[in-house]
Amino acid sequence: MDLKQAHYETQCVQGGYAPENGEPRVMPIVQSTTYKYDKTDDVCKLFDLEADGHMYSRISNPTLAVLEEKIALLEGGVGAMMTSSGQAANMLAILNICKAGQHVLAMSNLYGGTHNLFGPTFKNFGIDVTFVDPSLSLEELKGYIQENTRAVFGETIGNPGVDVLDFEKAATLAHDAGIPLIVDSTFATPVLCRPFEHGADIVTHSTTKYFDGHATSVGGVIVDSGKFDWNNGKFPELTQPDETYHGVIYTEKFGAAAYITKVRVTLLRDLGSTMAPFNAFLTNLGLETLALRMKKHSENSLALAEYLENHPKVSWVKYPLLKSSKTYDLAQKYLPEGGSGIIAFGVKGGASAGKTFIDSVDLASLVIHVGDLRTHVLHPATSTHRQLSEEQQITCGVSPDLIRLSVGIENFEDIKADLEQALANV
Ligand code: PLP
Repeated sequence: MDLKQAHYETQCVQGGYAPENGEPRVMPIVQSTTYKYDKTDDVCKLFDLEADGHMYSRISNPTLAVLEEKIALLEGGVGAMMTSSGQAANMLAILNICKAGQHVLAMSNLYGGTHNLFGPTFKNFGIDVTFVDPSLSLEELKGYIQENTRAVFGETIGNPGVDVLDFEKAATLAHDAGIPLIVDSTFATPVLCRPFEHGADIVTHSTTKYFDGHATSVGGVIVDSGKFDWNNGKFPELTQPDETYHGVIYTEKFGAAAYITKVRVTLLRDLGSTMAPFNAFLTNLGLETLALRMKKHSENSLALAEYLENHPKVSWVKYPLLKSSKTYDLAQKYLPEGGSGIIAFGVKGGASAGKTFIDSVDLASLVIHVGDLRTHVLHPATSTHRQLSEEQQITCGVSPDLIRLSVGIENFEDIKADLEQALANV
């Protein structure tokens, strides 16, 4: 069966690995840093990018390759590259086409760690990032594009404000400027949204979250749609000779896979943010049940969001598929199969009441994490977004009283009972 034509449930289970006669049914872990060759000419060909094959596990590895193929299949891309973390994925996705003296336009409602990376850290690299309010009109947003802007960046569902990206607007903004739209789709996963179908050019994920789904392995991935035309003079790193590979021109030699090939053979080679084979094995195991889990996370979350919205001790609730959500129309358009597992809400009495609530949960746990099968709670203003000023926190969608609930796949009634008893303490 051509898995490209299969449904995502089948792709999650069967994608990437097709054993031959007598080979292991489960994807094996190739725990080897090196590979053996018959002749020096074989090695020369690898170093000149003239032959396919594994050179060294910092750059590629057969276990990771299976996972990369499965994720590219799920997203509908031409190729994917695993990274050691979601942070590394976002960093390399930008650095692959943006250097010192250049600029990125990012939506402001991003994960706090991405704010740190894109703000102070990229500034030290000489890359300037402007954070813009995603609710601005297209014309207003265009005012922030500069001659040296090399990408537009957003999250499918913002962390933790859970606003949904206006793909059409963001893609038009990017494409009118001749630059790609890069989307971190961690909270949605390809089960709920496939950004390439809505104009995104590059997708990233923190696989640490729903892909793994069991909180065992930090990881990330970059996926290339293969659709962006790099030949407009803005991306010489892809269209001009690379002397580190004897003058290879990525767009000429690798066509639609130019971006994803270059990020691997230059940035993974040089910066070494590589995923370990064992983490790839665990991430793949998690991915096999992603479709089932995302449906259950979404079902539990919508029911809990509605329950919280009607609770007398709750002051406000945000969930993409709540009718009261300010991006409800976008959620209906881009997340028709479910709104994922993250709810943001505030309890009456503000931050201190929120603290009492968090300290009172029993089934749910207080952890610095989202997107695994257990229910979790967190107070972003004092944790993931702690480093930002209160003003910056507000632009990221983090009010002082915001509680982030990562809804697990336990029984809905049990999660609700836990929230109920914790709210009774407030
Ligand atoms: N992107 C989003 C949306 C996230 O929520 C996170 C982590 O929480 C990251 C990226 C960073 O991923 P990692 O923790 O795997 O480095």
